[in-house]
Amino acid sequence: MLIGIKSMSLSGINGYLVDVQVDVSNGLPSWEIVGLPDTSVKESKERVRAAIKNSGHYLHSQKIVINLAPASTKKEGSFFDLPIAVGILCDMELINSTSIDEYVFIGELSLNGKLNKMNGILPMCIEALNLGMKKVIIPYENRFEAGIVKGIDVYPAKNLSEVIWHLNGTQPLEQFITNPEEILVENDLYKIDFSEVKGQENVKRALEIAAAGSHNCLLIGSPGSGKTMLSRRISTILPDLSFEESLEITKIHSIAGTLPTNKALVTSRPFRSPHHTISSAALTGGGKIPKPGEISLAHHGVLFLDELPEFNRNVLEAMRTPLEDHVVTISRTNSTVSYPCNFMLIASMNPCPCGYYGTEDKECTCSPRND
Ligand SMILES: [Zn+2]
Repeated sequence: MLIGIKSMSLSGINGYLVDVQVDVSNGLPSWEIVGLPDTSVKESKERVRAAIKNSGHYLHSQKIVINLAPASTKKEGSFFDLPIAVGILCDMELINSTSIDEYVFIGELSLNGKLNKMNGILPMCIEALNLGMKKVIIPYENRFEAGIVKGIDVYPAKNLSEVIWHLNGTQPLEQFITNPEEILVENDLYKIDFSEVKGQENVKRALEIAAAGSHNCLLIGSPGSGKTMLSRRISTILPDLSFEESLEITKIHSIAGTLPTNKALVTSRPFRSPHHTISSAALTGGGKIPKPGEISLAHHGVLFLDELPEFNRNVLEAMRTPLEDHVVTISRTNSTVSYPCNFMLIASMNPCPCGYYGTEDKECTCSPRND
């Protein structure tokens, strides 16, 4: 029997629909996953097998073929554990498949059947809504971010058994509802504030002008002159986030896995301050499975590069185009992804290698020659 289950995956900061087709037939016992899966998807058969067994059901030795459509796109991650398990259980008639088409299933299973927290649930739920889907079943720990998507019914489940009971109607899951407007009103108060800075009137004025026009700026001063302290407070004088901006930032942080479990939306402007030993992939985004870098995590906020001359030249060069275009595009053999990166760049440096050129409190010990 062929069963089709709807699930989602990620491309850049957007989700896309994946149709998980499960076919169980008599034949030599085997388990095949096709449709360009990567290793993490292939491993799902072990997780699904154990999760079904540990949820109290016996899995017969049969020939199981799973196709992830569209077959032309490379699938990565463990999003498909839950839809695969549901598909197999439908075939075994342990799940009532009449209402199965109404749902999108997303979730990674533990060996004991627990549904694990996943990255990228928010963009996937948004895309599911755009595609006209009405209901989504997601891991319980992702309920806050999924709950802000208005127009789709969110059912958080703690484990595979709860999903089975829900679909069979024996013990329905509770729908999770949040009010996005309320969350935005409870705006995260910044723990620090620009008004705390005493003196430094010239610098403060310059930074206020930079903040007003979203200009990048470079602070040059001796150690201890307050460069870092001032930079940390710039995001507190930027305008409040709009709901759209907040949603866009949350999507990026949801994918990067930097969103706290109990938080639905990022409501304050990000401040990112990577160390100068950062690699260009970590700064601009990338990796084997592309992930947003620091410049995207600073989207709609501030990226602070302390000790600018200490950064590798190639790292700074890699940031040039994204800085102008407000978007970074990462190309891999199988895919091209784009992440937005509209941020305010604040950099700081010492006036000379020893740090005290031109100051009164200490004499500069650097040689006049530039070596
Ligand atoms: Zn010096």
